[in-house]
Amino acid sequence: MTAPVLPADSPDAIARAAALLREGGLVAMPTETVYGLAADASNAVAVARLYAAKGRPRFNPLIAHVAGIEMAKRLVEWPALADELARAFWPGPLTLVLPKLKAAPICDLANAGLDSVAIRAPGHAAAQALLEAFGGPLVAPSANPSGGVSPTTASHVREGLGDRLDLILDGGACTVGVESTVIALLDGRATLLRPGGLERSRIEAITGPLAIAGHSEAPTSPGMLASHYAPAAAMRLNATQAREGEVLLGFGAVQGDLNLSASGDLAEAAAKLFAALRQLDASGPKSIAVAPIPDEGLGEAINDRLQRAAAPRD
Ligand code: AMP
Ligand code: MG
Repeated sequence: MTAPVLPADSPDAIARAAALLREGGLVAMPTETVYGLAADASNAVAVARLYAAKGRPRFNPLIAHVAGIEMAKRLVEWPALADELARAFWPGPLTLVLPKLKAAPICDLANAGLDSVAIRAPGHAAAQALLEAFGGPLVAPSANPSGGVSPTTASHVREGLGDRLDLILDGGACTVGVESTVIALLDGRATLLRPGGLERSRIEAITGPLAIAGHSEAPTSPGMLASHYAPAAAMRLNATQAREGEVLLGFGAVQGDLNLSASGDLAEAAAKLFAALRQLDASGPKSIAVAPIPDEGLGEAINDRLQRAAAPRD
């Protein structure tokens, strides 16, 4: 049976979602980055259901979503740098990995038994309302089958997982469109684990130059698996023209069958990226060619997702 879709700005829908989550249910919630598949972070049965629904490899730890700093401090150690970053960028597309408190209401399955937890306060009114109503942390990986293209609308969620969850909250199209930037604040160092919706330069203005995690640390970062975010079609990057059997995803002056941003605006391109990949993939091409995207600002996150979408698949 396909899950009901309710408007995310309805207080009744939020109350029903919170009640379902308390019973161990799975609820798709809009965030500013992508739609998340939410479950009670403290409930191992619910989290096991979540992994099963996504078909996600179990060694991947999940992000615990919080209403704000106060809730975060119940979960993790909170150094001065975390406070500074959270005050600057929360609610928003920044995830902080911090040492987990022993008493944190987060089951081992949710953070893959690590000593650390990734936390973030999402910047979407409906996600905030749901977290307030629920009153505790919600784990919420992207609401799509593992390895596929992330959902940026409620319809994307319904198409991919509609029969494997309990409720979908429709909060419109995601405004940022790519996942959060993930920073580890461990052992006194700030390390970039995944580029994302908050530009690295804005974080470095506070932290100074970030260390960059090598791919060898991948077990802690599913977003770092080589193949991820992949459409059914093959992908070819840095293309300026379509070859036979290809469709072209344009950017700026490279027009293409669809254009991520004719004016070359990287924020617009990030917001459109996943929906555009889905739309081109739906026409069943052999391959999706993608125009070059400048590797600066949000282009870093866009290129990261494109490279993983184009990576060899198992
Ligand atoms: P997703 O929810 O699919 O967008 O992915 C969550 C991101 O946060 C991935 O890149 C995870 O590997 C990363 N992450 C979550 N928990 C941890 C942790 N304890 N240590 C390091 N990275 C983490
Ligand atoms: Mg994902």
